[in-house]
Amino acid sequence: MDKVISLSKRRGFIFPGSEIYGGLANSWDYGPLGVELKNNIKKLWWKMFVQERFDMVGLDAALLMNPKVWEASTHLTTFNDPLVECKKCHTRYREDQKPDECPVCGGTVFTEAKQFNLMLKTFLGPAEEKANIAYLRPETAQAMFVDFKQIVESSSMRVPFGVAQIGKAFRNEITPGNFIFRLREFEQMEIEYFINPSDGWEKHFDIWLDQMRIWLDRVGIDRKKIHEVEISEEDRAFYSKRTIDIEFDYPFGQKELYGLAYRTDFDLSNHEKMSGKNMKYRDPITNEEYLPHVIEPTWGVDRTVLAVLLSCYTETEARSGKDDAVHETEVTLRLPKEIAPIKIAILPLSKKEELTGPAIEIRSMLSKHWMLEYHTSGSIGKRYRRQDEIGTPYCITVDFETANDKSVTVRDRDTMKQDRVKISELVNYFKENLNC
Ligand code: ATP
Repeated sequence: MDKVISLSKRRGFIFPGSEIYGGLANSWDYGPLGVELKNNIKKLWWKMFVQERFDMVGLDAALLMNPKVWEASTHLTTFNDPLVECKKCHTRYREDQKPDECPVCGGTVFTEAKQFNLMLKTFLGPAEEKANIAYLRPETAQAMFVDFKQIVESSSMRVPFGVAQIGKAFRNEITPGNFIFRLREFEQMEIEYFINPSDGWEKHFDIWLDQMRIWLDRVGIDRKKIHEVEISEEDRAFYSKRTIDIEFDYPFGQKELYGLAYRTDFDLSNHEKMSGKNMKYRDPITNEEYLPHVIEPTWGVDRTVLAVLLSCYTETEARSGKDDAVHETEVTLRLPKEIAPIKIAILPLSKKEELTGPAIEIRSMLSKHWMLEYHTSGSIGKRYRRQDEIGTPYCITVDFETANDKSVTVRDRDTMKQDRVKISELVNYFKENLNC
């Protein structure tokens, strides 16, 4: 974990937020490479679950919603974590994470657990009074229920179909921590898949579980570190008839990465009651009218980034010299090409105009298609290693032959194979090999 955190900071994937002011309890900023990686993960998810399917549409709803939404969803009453307090120094812990001994003061006596609501509250407008209270959404899901009728009426979707959304969510976590695992501000990618209750929810549940497995492979998460945990009735959210947590072996233990739940018609029926609006779906062909049930697969973006970094981080020992001794540990981030922040690095072998001229032309040509880096300083070995460390799939070297044969050498991060490719063929070469 320390190695991944250090790489993240050193190479600009993720660093502590507000650092010059001493930071802010577990807030993290995604730097130049982090934002690319995170965007690529979101793009891949959207492509797989919205673009490549014909039973899905997207939504981008407001973060602030009418507080009645949270009343109907029961978040205001039940979205609680039990909290205990050290009797000596008053440090607070989630009950399920209570240490035997308080790490702050060594105290061993804690208060009884009390319920702590995780909703982050704010006020809209200048007056901080009850009528102006609003909440930052704790999940993206609710807007997909609230907007259900508008989506049906404005699109040609017919049940079964799903709505997908990516966006920020906020939770006033008692003990944020473990890098980007538990944040107060984080991002989710969620799907509400609406089905006819007489259509057999079990089948849809299994299909979605399978989709989530396929996703793990596409995004580069090590399946050997994944556990599908069936949540027992007593541990499930009260509205769920079946939940499977997809857990990952993080360095700090096996914990939730994603979740899959069958939520019945709990949400639509509560919104129908609270709003007084008919939330039922009428099938345009059969004319049958009913409240759809919902299968909800949910993914945390930040936990995806963490699991991807932990899965793709590899070290190899570089041996050289007569004694064949280990001289350096080389790091390679074996990211799937689709999510790598930088797809191609352009590395002229010398700073001479003869080489930088064509290199700059190649940069202009390829930058229309892919994110690139361009570096002229340092030995070529060092420059390759820096690209391996950030997971760049391809490096191009422009050398003294380039002017004659109008070709460059392309090195593959994973196979180390080097191809001599005509400059005029580069776009096709990468279209074929990057496949994105
Ligand atoms: P946990 O048990 O770890 O608190 P949860 O069961 O409350 O998680 P869900 O409500 O199912 O989580 O949220 C859906 C997804 O959002 C989770 O699977 C996770 O990937 C992500 N997530 C939830 N809480 C956080 C958080 N505080 N920081 C980062 N990601 C989170």
